[in-house]
Amino acid sequence: ETSLRESDPDVFGAIGRELRRQQEQIELIASENIVSRAVLEAQGSVLTNKYAEGYPGRRYYGGCEFVDEVEEIAIARACELFNCREAIVQPHSGSQANQAVFMALMKPGDTFLGMDLAAGGHLTHGGKANQSGKWFNAVHYGVRRDDQRIDFEAVARLAEEHRPKIIIAGGSAYSRVIDFRKFREIADSVGAWLMVDMAHFAGLVAGRAHPNPVEDAHVVTSTTHKTLRGPRGGLVLTNNPDIAKKVRSALFPGIQGGPLMHVIAAKAVAFGEALRPSFRQYARDVIANAQALAETLVEAGYAVVSGGTDTHLALIDLRPKGVKGNAAEESLERAGITCNKNGVPFDPEKPTVTSGIRVGSPACTTRGFGVAEFREVGAMMAEALDGLAKGGDAGAAEKAVAARVKALTGRFPIYE
Ligand code: PLP
Repeated sequence: ETSLRESDPDVFGAIGRELRRQQEQIELIASENIVSRAVLEAQGSVLTNKYAEGYPGRRYYGGCEFVDEVEEIAIARACELFNCREAIVQPHSGSQANQAVFMALMKPGDTFLGMDLAAGGHLTHGGKANQSGKWFNAVHYGVRRDDQRIDFEAVARLAEEHRPKIIIAGGSAYSRVIDFRKFREIADSVGAWLMVDMAHFAGLVAGRAHPNPVEDAHVVTSTTHKTLRGPRGGLVLTNNPDIAKKVRSALFPGIQGGPLMHVIAAKAVAFGEALRPSFRQYARDVIANAQALAETLVEAGYAVVSGGTDTHLALIDLRPKGVKGNAAEESLERAGITCNKNGVPFDPEKPTVTSGIRVGSPACTTRGFGVAEFREVGAMMAEALDGLAKGGDAGAAEKAVAARVKALTGRFPIYE
């Protein structure tokens, strides 16, 4: 049997270059992380060969004895981790977890209420170009202008006015702990289901560093690859057996075929890691590190949306220095720091430009960065961005920062 290196040097080479990029760059994309070798090994296993349509004990294919074992381990660990009764581990992605819940609890044309993309919501919460926005009537709440936190008055008013089937809490660029109880009260007042999409902060919940939405929501969706530090994939949790049944059949045969058993094995491994005491320390560190990074950027003259963060991410408003999000993203990438441009609430710029960047601490915390290193990262970012702010040639600042990035990442090696 030939190795990948021998049989396909093109793909092998690109993977090697990507490995090196991950080793040598400072990863601040809030939705990314660095999985363990055990997770990689499970995902790269022979389970990829197996068809297992259906659910453990009720498959449409033979030979499912061992993949049943794997899926049952994943389910049991997810239930223990999030203290819930039912876990569905088959969604191929966060988007398909959301899609399955929509299909289980709504019909095309029904109304749901979710957070506006411009305020930090996700595409699958009713984005115009997304199926959720095309097949359903999506209504959106946002954040208040003054403190940039969820506008609960608007949530209550819109719920009363539109009588949605589902209310969604949770997003992709909202840095504060969400008051799930308040959302549930509003949902109950209009007879709506409360769905919490905890894709971003699931790892903080698992690490007991963030309130658990399972207690207040009728149904919780998530990804497994962000703060939770597992393989790319989706997850649905609920304490309601009837909802669980509906979601399972919405997922298969509703929208998916055969489950990705190798990914489910990797999810099981990641859940097992998240059950260890060390993951609680990780979750606390992720938050402390995000706060240190945000504070450093504020000290350097930038602004942070909502004034800070309770989670793993912060939205940096670059307007005090007159820098645009797209230029910042590109300049930081040249300096070896990866993040993404992101609109800030009520952003006057187009989505392709934006006034902000989103930064997150999960990946670098995994590689061992602490508060001191995150302060250094903040200082490096400020140095590169100040190069842009002054206009003219930012190249010198980027070059100086790139050298420091190389030295810092060299001290915290990954996948050696
Ligand atoms: N929900 C939220 C809140 C997200 O941030 C994301 C990922 O960006 C998703 C769902 C979708 O997950 P995926 O990219 O796995 O489809």
